[in-house]
Amino acid sequence: MPKITLRNAEKSYGGTAIKAVRDLNLEIGDGEFMCLLGPSGCGKTTTLRMISGLEHLSGGQISVGDKVVDCVASGSFISPEKRGMGLVFQSYALWPHMTIERNTDFGLRLRKVPKAERQARVDKVMKTLGIEKYRDRYPSQLSGGQQQRVALARMLAVNPDVLLLDEPLSNLDARLRLEMRAELKRIHEEFKTTIVFVTHDQWEAMTLATSIAVMSEGELQQVGTPNEIYEQPANRFVAEFVGSPPINIVEMGEGKAEPLSGLVKSYLSKAFPQIDAIGSVGLRPEALGFVQDAAEVPQGAMEGGAQVTGVLPTGGSWIIELRAHDTKLFLTTHKPPVVAEGDQGFFFVRPEAIHVFDSHGKRNVS
Ligand code: ATP
Repeated sequence: MPKITLRNAEKSYGGTAIKAVRDLNLEIGDGEFMCLLGPSGCGKTTTLRMISGLEHLSGGQISVGDKVVDCVASGSFISPEKRGMGLVFQSYALWPHMTIERNTDFGLRLRKVPKAERQARVDKVMKTLGIEKYRDRYPSQLSGGQQQRVALARMLAVNPDVLLLDEPLSNLDARLRLEMRAELKRIHEEFKTTIVFVTHDQWEAMTLATSIAVMSEGELQQVGTPNEIYEQPANRFVAEFVGSPPINIVEMGEGKAEPLSGLVKSYLSKAFPQIDAIGSVGLRPEALGFVQDAAEVPQGAMEGGAQVTGVLPTGGSWIIELRAHDTKLFLTTHKPPVVAEGDQGFFFVRPEAIHVFDSHGKRNVS
């Protein structure tokens, strides 16, 4: 049984007709690390707040295990503190007048856990999160990243069934962010807590999640493992949101068709005769190749003449800008490029790496 189930969940604020979240159906498995991913304003935080009980649903229902915690039809509603969930927000709100140990201990005291057990749990989480050496300090004496760990420790100490995290790493610098990601992953493995994690950062989602739910404008676009989201995007939004540099899109639809579309169309009609009504095609930059000798194009690949119009080093990898039939394509490579601006040659892409979308942007499955 899934840990958390959202059925046709909806939220509109202040009685407005505009829905922040629309008809959301989502299952979050027990022990899963689910990332809610999407651009600003897509409804991620609202979804998290509905799960926590900080927001009442405007429609649909949410269950935790077999217990309905919010249902508009029946009017049943279980308050946040009775849902067994821990929440950590971007601003981690530690008590400034309490030491780190007291802060970590806070939730356990509230729950009147016996002293010996409290001490054992506090010691364990402080050790896991590497904050035991700060136990006698006050929050103002710690860095942002250290405070972030204390906020997490305070939540983990009470051993919540579900941990809800809203962009908890967004205040940290790049290195600390990376360290904390690794730490969160370890915590998840050790504590086996079900985690719902809100982020707009695709890399964060890809590196942390066992499952990603991609949202746009209040609607769920796709749920899947990081690999599924990347390799089999359900639609153009997902394909374009995930991946850096972004996927190359060749418009194929009438009126919008790009110069390269004729070549792509004639290749696809032979390689995938069963696919019709093509609106656009997506080619990931790392799936593209460029060679100067046509004999080096792999058999069966889609190919066409192209010119190198730019070589951009990005530190350890390179982006090569190509012009193919007057359409711009970006290619990435980890090998130092042997080509230079102005070189003529051939781009190619293997058939399995071509993403085909219909005129509505939906993935066309061959
Ligand atoms: P961000 O990444 O910027 O935090 P988000 O994906 O978490 O965005 P939400 O905060 O859930 O998005 O907001 C979804 C939509 O609901 C937005 O259009 C937002 O303006 C609106 N909204 C959120 N909270 C309220 C509120 N309390 N009152 C009115 N509208 C709200």
